[in-house]
Amino acid sequence: MRYDLHCHTVHSDGEKTVSELLDIAKNANLAGLSITDHDTISAYDEAFELAKERSLEIISGTEISCLHNQKPVHILAYSFCTKDEKFNLFIKECQRMRYERNIEMLKLFAERKISITFEELEERFNKKMHAIGRPHFAKLLIEKEVASSFYDAFNRYLADGKKCFVIGRRPSVEEAIDAVHLANGFAVIAHPHIIHDSSLEKELLEMNFDGLEGYYAKMGPNREQKWVAISKNKNWMITGGSDFHGESKPINQLGSSWVSQETFNQLKVRQDENEQLRAHQ
Ligand code: AMP
Ligand code: FE
Ligand code: FE
Ligand code: ZN
Repeated sequence: MRYDLHCHTVHSDGEKTVSELLDIAKNANLAGLSITDHDTISAYDEAFELAKERSLEIISGTEISCLHNQKPVHILAYSFCTKDEKFNLFIKECQRMRYERNIEMLKLFAERKISITFEELEERFNKKMHAIGRPHFAKLLIEKEVASSFYDAFNRYLADGKKCFVIGRRPSVEEAIDAVHLANGFAVIAHPHIIHDSSLEKELLEMNFDGLEGYYAKMGPNREQKWVAISKNKNWMITGGSDFHGESKPINQLGSSWVSQETFNQLKVRQDENEQLRAHQ
């Protein structure tokens, strides 16, 4: 039994709808998954029902964009009740910050006389600005022949530190962990192997996380062992997933990284508790 705990849908910057994603999961022989869209849990308006129809197990999830000392850090949250009011308010605040960041990025494109507008982005991807991410900018730049490829768009304009990148305001890592814990969820360091900054890595590992993402699509076996050893030492849980987005990230195939039923159940038990607590409120 394999469970992929990291994937994206059209609710953020993924390319598949929830039902398409669940069909792919079924075909890949996964027993279940968590959908971890960036700064949103709107996939869960339909995901529980659609998963049930396909006999797939599913737990709540999201990937929160945070900052630590002005450096971007992604946190995965699991097992919260998707109806939790405070957690929903926190996510809404993250979306407001994403909206503002996107507006600032649009200004930088305008300053460079590169025509890419608010309306074009919202219309082309059929979503509100607060759910738009850099991959949407990249796709539009390609379609407008400003960039020749995804790589080109990121390399020239969108990647961290490039011409039209804005880091923006985001919750601190500590704020995000606290918001997840307030909803009695688990907070996990996403793809820790891409943190090429030893002091940032050290500081994150001293924080109040519940786990780290020890299995990840592109992570080699040696690096995996490093993260497995660290989490064992801390008594943290080891999560894993593919970070599937769709065709734009061919290496991140759904199910290319996964966790066992034992880990999934640990998350599922917590979520069931949270749902029950809420039902009795
Ligand atoms: P955002 O959440 O808007 O800051 O965009 C972050 C997303 O952009 C990540 O989750 C990736 O999907 C994608 N991304 C970030 N950096 C790169 C890059 N250098 N090349 C390709 N995709 C990237
Ligand atoms: Fe993404
Ligand atoms: Fe991420
Ligand atoms: Zn992701």
